[in-house]
Amino acid sequence: IGLIQRGTGAYLRIDEVLALPEEPAQRPGRGTPCASPAPGTPPATPHAPAAPALELTDIHFGYVPDRPVLRGATFTVPHHGLVALVGRSGAGKSTLFSLIARLYDPDAGTIRFDGLPTTALSRGQCREGIALVDQNTHVLEGTLRENITYGALDAGDDDILRVVRLTRLDPVVRRLPGGLDGRLGDHGGTLSAGERQRIALARALLARPRLLLLDEHTSHLDAVNETALTRALSAVTRECAVLVIAHRLSTVRHADRIVVLEDGRTVASGRHDELLTTSPAYRELATTHVLRSHASEKTWEKASEN
Ligand code: ADP
Ligand code: MG
Repeated sequence: IGLIQRGTGAYLRIDEVLALPEEPAQRPGRGTPCASPAPGTPPATPHAPAAPALELTDIHFGYVPDRPVLRGATFTVPHHGLVALVGRSGAGKSTLFSLIARLYDPDAGTIRFDGLPTTALSRGQCREGIALVDQNTHVLEGTLRENITYGALDAGDDDILRVVRLTRLDPVVRRLPGGLDGRLGDHGGTLSAGERQRIALARALLARPRLLLLDEHTSHLDAVNETALTRALSAVTRECAVLVIAHRLSTVRHADRIVVLEDGRTVASGRHDELLTTSPAYRELATTHVLRSHASEKTWEKASEN
């Protein structure tokens, strides 16, 4: 009886999702319409190698009228580049991700993928090449293999091992009795936060995205996991462009470019050492511990004294 009751509950929740209305072509009353390509338009060339993977130009956006959240965000993510987006809580980082994933369209400004403005692409085309890993990394009851492949059930062992290596999950495979087919149990309760995050990363990479959006956790990672994440992220750029909402010093240090977002505006961009001297906004993020570091807080304090 207990089983039937749980099953009924689960069924009702699934049914709720299935019954949701299809995503409207335009959010009522707000934003620019998400135009579908005009009939007869030739299919968009997916790749213009000279153009950056992602280009945002003077993006303005508010969820409700007269309450702007983004007020001029401009930056690019090059192919195979790692760009870290930093800013205090409420600056608009997650909102930017929502716009890039086209959950909303900007009120003004242009987003381009491989040089093509999103208005020339359908929502489906925009999302095809994007993988989003946000802070809610779910690990389901089941094996490691099932947890990595549930978005790509036909993935072969070669592909799975490729993403396992990229995301530094090999130690988990070795540790689990049964390896890839070992059960994680207890919704991944035996895994560390860092390992759960890297499982979500592996899952996303299996779809071979052209652009990976990662919202890094704010929760504490130990030094081993922090290093594993940093290494995984650099390795991932061999396969795609990466834009990460960074909360860790170890991530920003390795980024090709850091973009500082303040009150919805991009106020500085550059590499870590550069920004330390040129951007008061960036320096402040570090001294107020918006950017955290497990091992190198001391190094950081020293650097910011200079
Ligand atoms: P960050 O990720 O940098 O912390 P967010 O993009 O989450 O910032 O939020 C930026 C601002 O937008 C905040 O003031 C927040 O309250 C507001 N906001 C975020 N999501 C919504 C939403 N769905 N509806 C209305 N306001 C929102
Ligand atoms: Mg956020």
